Amino acid sequence: MVDHTTVLIAGAGPAGLVLGNLLRAEGIDTLVVERASWEQVRTRARAGFLGPNSARVLTEHGLGAGMLHKGLEHGVCAFRGEDGEFELDYSRLGRGEVHTVYPQQDLVADLVAEYLDRGGEIRFGATVTGVDPGTATIRYRDEQGESVVSGRFLAGCDGSGGVTRQAVPGRRITQDHGVSWLAVLAEAPQSMAAVTYAIHDDGFAGHMARSPEVTRYYLQVPPGDDAEAWTGERIWAALDTRMRVDEFGQLKQGPIIDRRIVRLRSDVAAEIQHDRLFLAGDAAGLISPSAAKGANLAIMEAETLASALVSALRHDDERPLAAYSRTCLPRVWRAQEFSRWMIDLLHTQDDDFHRALRRARLHSLRDCHAHQNFFAEHYVGI
Ligand SMILES: Cc1cc2nc3c(=O)[nH]c(=O)nc-3n(C[C@H](O)[C@H](O)[C@H](O)COP(=O)(O)OP(=O)(O)OC[C@H]3O[C@@H](n4cnc5c(N)ncnc54)[C@H](O)[C@@H]3O)c2cc1C
Repeated sequence: MVDHTTVLIAGAGPAGLVLGNLLRAEGIDTLVVERASWEQVRTRARAGFLGPNSARVLTEHGLGAGMLHKGLEHGVCAFRGEDGEFELDYSRLGRGEVHTVYPQQDLVADLVAEYLDRGGEIRFGATVTGVDPGTATIRYRDEQGESVVSGRFLAGCDGSGGVTRQAVPGRRITQDHGVSWLAVLAEAPQSMAAVTYAIHDDGFAGHMARSPEVTRYYLQVPPGDDAEAWTGERIWAALDTRMRVDEFGQLKQGPIIDRRIVRLRSDVAAEIQHDRLFLAGDAAGLISPSAAKGANLAIMEAETLASALVSALRHDDERPLAAYSRTCLPRVWRAQEFSRWMIDLLHTQDDDFHRALRRARLHSLRDCHAHQNFFAEHYVGI
């Protein structure tokens, strides 16, 4: 079977779905091809912190109802270490902007519902197996067998493990940051009002709200560690130690409903376009979750790409498409730079020199306005 649409989108994550919605709002035909089932897509918990730019894109384009109704605003974070705890009111320090905490799977479910309402088509359970950027064609496999679909343009939004990125020639700039996290979801209310980063010689621990009933915790673990080796009891014991509960108060415990190892890696393409193919989100550039930027970059790239495609398709102007890599990549690299800065701030190093530098950076953040302002602007913005 061969069929045709205008914009073919590989992947129904935040990037592909925001793009699909923005194009459907302009009456442009789209088809999203997604490897996972609908059930998997709407329950896959990952991000939660949306920056003000993402919130703007979603609200301006009629995609923010769920986030506005159920999202929680966050403008303060805290750092705990051997010298005590301090809070940074990054909303007040910066431009008054806050994060909106809204689980990624809820956002994705909202985006799917709206996309279908706008007349978009999604094929779930369809794995893209081949891409031809020259003819804007993809081959995919589903229960019915192999199919080929073509469009005028292709959007590669199939994440860091997808296939579209392999069809863009050129260098990729990669970095393994040498750090792994155990990412945990606990069915428990948040234990502190603020996002809390705990710095400890045993390793980093993080606490972030996700919803009134669910809290995200992170634990730095040795690279190559196995998530199954972390029982609930072991997780809470490590969190108690690293969060220094004897000094700062107990954590509100609950059943662990998800645990997985996340290797902190970066992987950015030197070019994110080739012929009729344009990459967005993690397919264009994977970023470590240390500064919660991945979903935000995905949403911003989707907006930039949608606007460029509308120019090409509605106004016969391909200049914004031609400039797509140049428009997006500086933003990607600023986010990468800040994420790396956060990795250095938060993680335990084996040698005394780097441990002493980390402590000094924390002191600067506690005491120096210039450092606080740098942090506030980059943490919430970009
Ligand atoms: C533990 C964790 C916490 C995070 N926290 C934050 C946070 O707080 N804030 C933030 O901004 N970011 C965060 N991130 C990053 C964020 O989740 C990602 O950057 C975001 O999901 C990227 O969106 P995307 O649409 O590019 O890719 P994805 O969400 O990965 O979507 C890609 C889609 O493509 C599909 N696909 C893959 N291969 C194929 C194929 N061959 N054929 C068809 N479909 C395919 C996948 O099934 C998937 O649905 C976090 C990530 C992790 C792992």
